[in-house]
This record gives sequence, structure tokens and C-alpha cells, in this order.
Amino acid sequence: MNKNSSNIMALAPNTSNKRETVCIFGTGDFGRALGHKMIQAGYPIVFGSRSTQTSSLIPKDAEVLSHAEAAQKAAIIIIAIQRQHYNFLTPLAEVLHGKVLVDVSNNLKINQYPESNTEYLAHLVPGAKVVKAFNTVSAWALQSGTLDASRQVFVCGDDMEAKQMVMDIVRALGLTPLDKGSLLAAQEIENYPLQLFPMWKFPIILSFCLTAFFFFYCVIRDIIYPHVYENQDFSFFIAISIPNRICPILALILLALVYLPGIFAAILQLYRGTKYHRFPDWLDKWMLCRKQLGLVALAFACLHVLYTLVIPIRYFVRWRISSYIISQVLNNQTQPLDNTNAWISDSYLALGILGFFLFVLLGITSLPSVSNNVNWREFRFVQSKLGYLTLILCTAHTLFYGGKRFLSPSSYRWYLPNAYMLSLIVPCMVLVVKFVLIFPCLDKPLTRIRQGWERNPQHS
Ligand code: NAP
Repeated sequence: MNKNSSNIMALAPNTSNKRETVCIFGTGDFGRALGHKMIQAGYPIVFGSRSTQTSSLIPKDAEVLSHAEAAQKAAIIIIAIQRQHYNFLTPLAEVLHGKVLVDVSNNLKINQYPESNTEYLAHLVPGAKVVKAFNTVSAWALQSGTLDASRQVFVCGDDMEAKQMVMDIVRALGLTPLDKGSLLAAQEIENYPLQLFPMWKFPIILSFCLTAFFFFYCVIRDIIYPHVYENQDFSFFIAISIPNRICPILALILLALVYLPGIFAAILQLYRGTKYHRFPDWLDKWMLCRKQLGLVALAFACLHVLYTLVIPIRYFVRWRISSYIISQVLNNQTQPLDNTNAWISDSYLALGILGFFLFVLLGITSLPSVSNNVNWREFRFVQSKLGYLTLILCTAHTLFYGGKRFLSPSSYRWYLPNAYMLSLIVPCMVLVVKFVLIFPCLDKPLTRIRQGWERNPQHS
């Protein structure tokens, strides 16, 4: 008997692990979705609502009570109600005293109110411990189960114990809490879901403008010019030839623009003799979106590779090769192998292949799952040293593309140089200045400045 009972004791659930009841104010989309998920995680849920009538939408294991009754049943109350209705909480101040109130609200516009919704809630119910959480998780994701542990839930609040209780719930739901500090962080957390690819805006607008510019440039040179002077219709170039000119140009310019702000920063630091002066805003913003610029550049490079792969099966290319062969047959002469051309062509391809390989490597190391697994030195080595090597290879690839006709006057049409020549301006500038900056007379003071040395110390 004794032996049996000890077995039963061992198998019995640990009652101390029983979850505490949580109250949710509001039976709207978010309240219901969160309630459903929390019931699955083992939390008894009680809803506080204006109407105590339950409906088929409300999770069936949950109770629905008036706000005051529901609040009395739990230590944690999640306010799943829009901010503009928060004033209904003022008469409940007494019953909410000492409770943990979780504000999940979002706004329609960035910085819509002078203070965050959470600070407003704390002001309305001064006796409660207010915590911000869950606002970056959508009701849809909660319902459809598309949440995973990698989804971070930002949490902030002034009361450490209350914040810890909320973070425990976040973990129990299989999510990752991220402590963002005190309630002062609430406004930033509320603005977060309203941002629309903030770091991508500049790279995308810039690539759109450059694409438009080079598209019209190539149309003028490659379609309008032959039409006017040779009465030839090359309008089909719009489908593959022109995109395959624009993609490498954009890839090269954008890759150079990833490294250009670093050059500006180095020149500014050398000029000022300190690193403790802020960079101008435009430079700060530019530096922050370098990864996105690089990824857009990589996308253009991938497109260039795809366009290049289809060249042999293009009708126009096959027609040109066969016409060339026929003209040799008709003239009864064979063009001898031009060794210089063979070298230029092979070098051009080899540099392109190597450049693209390193470009892909840079893209892969910028992925958070990879960059989190390398230390700071390794990351800098890949992004800076290999990055510059990629820029050198891609620039050389473009120079070899020009080959013998690089500066030949016949390649100008209406005084317009070939588009690839324009694409070389920024990368060459970046590489030349970088080359100058690695001279010891500049590199040494720059390294010292970056380690904290100042030419004219402000505070001695
Ligand atoms: P909702 O569907 O409009 O529900 C809001 C609930 O608030 C209503 O169902 C109602 O519940 C209650 N309510 C409405 N007017 C009220 C009043 N005058 N006084 C007291 N209670 C009132 O909104 P929701 O989408 O669930 O969003 C709720 C909160 O979660 C919002 O602050 C929102 O920013 C935040 N949020 C939503 C999502 C999302 O994906 N939906 C994601 C993150 C955060 P009763 O009828 O039960 O009283």
C-alpha cells in the first residue's frame, strides 16, 4: 500500500506549477486571440467585458464577467481595449490598486499622442503596476499559430516584479520576451509596429531613381540613336539587353555606396581629430542602411547573372553568330584567334564569377543567423576586407568589359559614353580614396582616433 501510494505521489501533477488566473479586459479580436492562446498554455482566463453574455467566439473555457468582478479574480489584467476608451478604468481605480495592468495597445500614427498609451494608463490608474507588452504580436498570428519562439515580445515597465510576471507569461506562450527597460521605452515600442521598412526606404528610392535614369540613358544610346542614324529597330533590347546593362551598373554603384559613407566618416574624423563629434544626420542615416544597400546591390547582381545565363539562347545572339560565320564563309576567310581578346574576355568572366561569389558570401554573412555566430573581428573582416575585395573584383570586371574599346571615340553616341563607364565613377573614387587612407601617415592617426585619442582634447 505504502509502495503504491509513493508511486502515485511521484506520478501526480505538481500542483505548485498550476498557472494563476489572468484577467483580460475586452472581448475584441486581440483579447479573444490572446485568451485562446493562454488557455492552451494552461492559464485560467476570465474576461472583463461591458456585456457578460458569452458568445461562440469567446473561448469556451473562459468566464465572462463585469470588469470589476473579473479584476478581483486575478493579479494580472491585460487591457485589450483601444486607448481612447481607457477612461472607463478611472472608476475601477480601487479594485485595480496593486494589480499588474498589461497595456497591449497600438496607435494609428507614429507619436500620435504626446505621451505613450502605457504612461497615459499609469497616469489614469496610479495605484496599479503598469507594463507594456504584446503590442508587436498580431491577433491573426496568435490565432493562426504562425508565432514561433524567435518572435520577440518587447516588454517595459517601472516595476521589476510586475515585468517579470509578464515575461513569464510571454515565455509560457512559447515567445521570447525582450526587456526594453522602464516605461520611458513604451513610446518607442508603440511606434515599432507602425514603421514601414524604415531602413529600406533610402536604398529602394535610390535604386528606383538610378534604374529610371540608366533605363532612359540606355534607351537613348542603344535604341533611339541606331533608329535615327542607321534606321534600325532595336526596340526589343528593352526586354533583356537593357535590363542586363542596368543590373550590373546598379549592383556596382550600390556596392560602392555601401563603402562610401565609411570613407566620408574617416575623412571627417581625420579632419576633426576626434571621434567624439557626431556625424551629420545624413551620414548617420546612410551608415545605418548600408546592409540594406548591400542586399539590394546583391539582388541586382543575381538578376545580372540570370540575364547573362540566357544570352546563348537569345534569337538575336544566335542570328548574329550565324551571320558572322556566313560572312566568313562568303568572303572565304577565317578570322585568326586573337589572343589579347581571348585574355580580356576570360579575365572579364573570371573576375565576374569571383566577384559574384564574394558578393553572395557578403550577403550570407549579413543574415542575423550567420552574423550572430561570428565574433566582431570575423564580421569586420568579412564585411570590410572581403567587401573591398568584392568591390575591386567587380570594378575590374567592369573595366575588362570595356576592354579595348574602353576610351575609343567610336563608343560615344551623341557624346554620351557607354553606360558602364558612368557606373565606374563612384567605385573608382571609393577605391582610390581608400587606397590613400591606408597609407601609414593617415592610417595610424585614424586608428588612434578610433581608439579614443583626440588631437585637441575637450576635457583634459
Ligand atoms: P477590437 O476588436 O475593437 O476590440 C476592442 C474591445 O474593447 C471591444 O471588443 C470591447 O470589448 C472593448 N471596448 C470597446 N469600446 C469600449 C468602451 N467604450 N469601454 C470599454 N471597453 C470597450 O480591438 P482589438 O483589435 O481587439 O484591439 C484591442 C487592443 O489590442 C488595442 O489597443 C489594439 O491596439 C491592441 N492590439 C491589437 C492587435 C490586433 O492584431 N488586433 C495587435 C496588437 C495590439 P467588450 O465588448 O468585451 O467590452
